[in-house]
Amino acid sequence: MTAKTPRVGFVSLGCPKALVDSEHILTRLRAEGYDISSSYEDAQLVVVNTCGFIDSAVEESLEAIGEALDENGKVIVTGCLGARGDMVQQAYPNVLAVTGPHAMEEVMAAVHRHIPRPHDPYTDLVPAAGLKLTPRHYAYLKISEGCNHRCSFCIIPALRGDLVSRPVEDVMQEARNLVDAGVRELLIISQDTSAYGVDVKYRTGFWNGQPIRTRMTELCRALAQLGVWVRLHYVYPYPHVDEVIPLMAEGHLLPYLDIPLQHANPRILKAMKRPASAENTLRRIATWRDTCPDITLRSTFIVGFPGETEAEFQELLDFLNEAQLDRVGAFAYSPVEGAAANALPGAVDEDEKQDRLRRFMEKQAAISSAKLQKRIGTRIDVMVDGQDETGDLIARSMADAPEIDGIVIVENSPPRQSGEILTVTVTEATEHDLIARPVDSKD
Ligand code: SF4
Repeated sequence: MTAKTPRVGFVSLGCPKALVDSEHILTRLRAEGYDISSSYEDAQLVVVNTCGFIDSAVEESLEAIGEALDENGKVIVTGCLGARGDMVQQAYPNVLAVTGPHAMEEVMAAVHRHIPRPHDPYTDLVPAAGLKLTPRHYAYLKISEGCNHRCSFCIIPALRGDLVSRPVEDVMQEARNLVDAGVRELLIISQDTSAYGVDVKYRTGFWNGQPIRTRMTELCRALAQLGVWVRLHYVYPYPHVDEVIPLMAEGHLLPYLDIPLQHANPRILKAMKRPASAENTLRRIATWRDTCPDITLRSTFIVGFPGETEAEFQELLDFLNEAQLDRVGAFAYSPVEGAAANALPGAVDEDEKQDRLRRFMEKQAAISSAKLQKRIGTRIDVMVDGQDETGDLIARSMADAPEIDGIVIVENSPPRQSGEILTVTVTEATEHDLIARPVDSKD
């Protein structure tokens, strides 16, 4: 066993039925790679399997729990006395968990909450972080599947069903495994990140002995403790999104929000079945920027939605002018089979759609590139993604999500490992990317 293998102490009291329960739990602990400790000091927690048959057995069990608490401090109680949970809790309010007899799954769940399941590379077929298709230093972390909205242009709910949030403890454990495996940036994804936990009524889960609600803000706070870049994608513009902006301002989350807005005209937004107040959105954007001046806003829009008039499209262009978003993706409406919006009157002619898309992209390109120009001369932190054939580093700033945003080309830098973070001074800006050099570079 390596020194790092987590160790569980075990005290087994009571009759043969209790003994068999103990054997099952011990077998499972070993099968999962935990070591069994014969001393209190050596164990990270202690399971006490109790007996409650007669008064003297109750006494003996309570004494055993007290001794384990004194000697070790972290105790899970199971067995017959555990069925009288209030008695145990009253005598020892600081036990970690109490289960009844024959409750191996509950005991194991409590053990997992307090000392995560070990990983044995000799017996496990995949690394704890799982198999990944992304480079080693960043990873996508999916927190839920499906969606409860019914946007009229989208068939995802029909394909993937309603929202199902992953248990917060599973998400946190996966995040921990990824960070332990070398990941330096977590990209939080889902169909609808801000809806996380709605389906489970924001239930409180436990990870590392810490209660965490299944909710976007609380998950973000917990992820921030892992000490890596955390970037939020696909954040539907619910009001509670405002809660995460202070976390960005305080440096706990990347100051980056990918928030699909889709349109700005209220009638079109209504037909899309999206929140329909562009004015409100502009006000919110202004407040976000007040709270977190460095925030990068990315959004996506659809042009040529059925019934969109030239005036409504113009309203969208005006919105872009006002909102001054940093990064924008746009699509010409495409009638995906099964989308409710296909039945709406006023389909926009294909050439007209493409023309609107071109005008939209031209306007936004001017905005995005003016924003990049303003960064010349500033100092920014970048994460290294690799090196090109000329020896320049290919990196990204906090404003750049991998694959979809721009890059920062760092000239005159000694070689660096992927995932390293360095501070650079921006020297030039192209339409999408920045050129920079390390702050200590002499050239
Ligand atoms: S567009 Fe997004 S929010 Fe709307 S239904 Fe599709 S997945 Fe859900």
